[in-house]
Amino acid sequence: MKSSILIIYTGGTIGMKTDAETGALIPFDFSAIYEEFPSLKRLNVDIEVQTMSPVIDSSNVTPDNWLTLARMIRDNYARYDGFVVLHGTDTMSYTASALSFLLEDLAKPVVFTGSQIPIGVLRTDGRENLITAIEIAGARDGDRPIVPEVSLYFQNRLFRANRTTKRSAEALSAFRSNNYPPLAEVGVNISYIRPAIMQPEQIPSDPTRLRIADHLADDVAVIKLFPGMTEQVLRAMFSASNLRAVVLETFGAGNAPTTPWFIEVLQEAISRGIFIVNITQCGSGSVSMSLYDTGLRLQKIGVLCGHDMTTEAAVTKLMYVLGKGLSAEETYRLLSRPLRGEFTL
Ligand code: ASP
Repeated sequence: MKSSILIIYTGGTIGMKTDAETGALIPFDFSAIYEEFPSLKRLNVDIEVQTMSPVIDSSNVTPDNWLTLARMIRDNYARYDGFVVLHGTDTMSYTASALSFLLEDLAKPVVFTGSQIPIGVLRTDGRENLITAIEIAGARDGDRPIVPEVSLYFQNRLFRANRTTKRSAEALSAFRSNNYPPLAEVGVNISYIRPAIMQPEQIPSDPTRLRIADHLADDVAVIKLFPGMTEQVLRAMFSASNLRAVVLETFGAGNAPTTPWFIEVLQEAISRGIFIVNITQCGSGSVSMSLYDTGLRLQKIGVLCGHDMTTEAAVTKLMYVLGKGLSAEETYRLLSRPLRGEFTL
């Protein structure tokens, strides 16, 4: 039986083509996808396209857009076997990470992709990214989808979405997932790395329905440490009104200065109820707060360990968990464990 796939176009470079007369970049009409790519008819899938309104450059994406996208997937969940989300590459890892949290009992594939070169330009990387993403979204073992999680496909690799970061403004392999293996490698064939793929915790009682979260908190900040950061600057950041959580990007394995004023600012913030999650500035590896005194002090005052989470996953997880309006204990509990495979314990 054919799989049915919904493509949701949100904007970005992938949706552009060159006007034959003027040479300028103009939007590509995804609703005419079979005319543009007749070869798609050879895939064993039925494709429909919806466009998010308004279409945006992904630098303008907001948590409201993420909620809209989650609702679009929920509202169409019963009708399709899988979803492909076309998104600008600049913030794709943020959106894809946010969706991994918002789609709470997902049991179907949601594959994000985009391109570095517009789809209507001869040397585009968008064509292969799109076609393979569709194939992955429709791939099944019998009646079970092979990749029933939120993933991101780019340049021959499928990743867990909430493990990715845009790594290059130039290279066609624009994304990396340094702390988690790819879910699939694509060459002549698509080879799925099955042990890396997440399976739904429990089969939902009604598989035609998808439960989604309907609120995201946005009182979150990212503070990246650097040698020479002054007390005044750090205090100013922590004194932002309504601040509820901070992703603290520390050095190496989760280390920060031991200067008394530094610890004091953090301690004060924690006593005001602000959650602080410690992640590393390094492109790979994990926070281990008990390794050095410089990390241990953070642990002692109640800074949460972010393990090997990306900034994108940490920010969107905080928005999601705080958006639930739970007690401090329950919030702490959800932040301390992986919810969608976003960190390795
Ligand atoms: N500025 C574009 C965007 O992120 C870049 C891209 O799609 O690659 O929307």
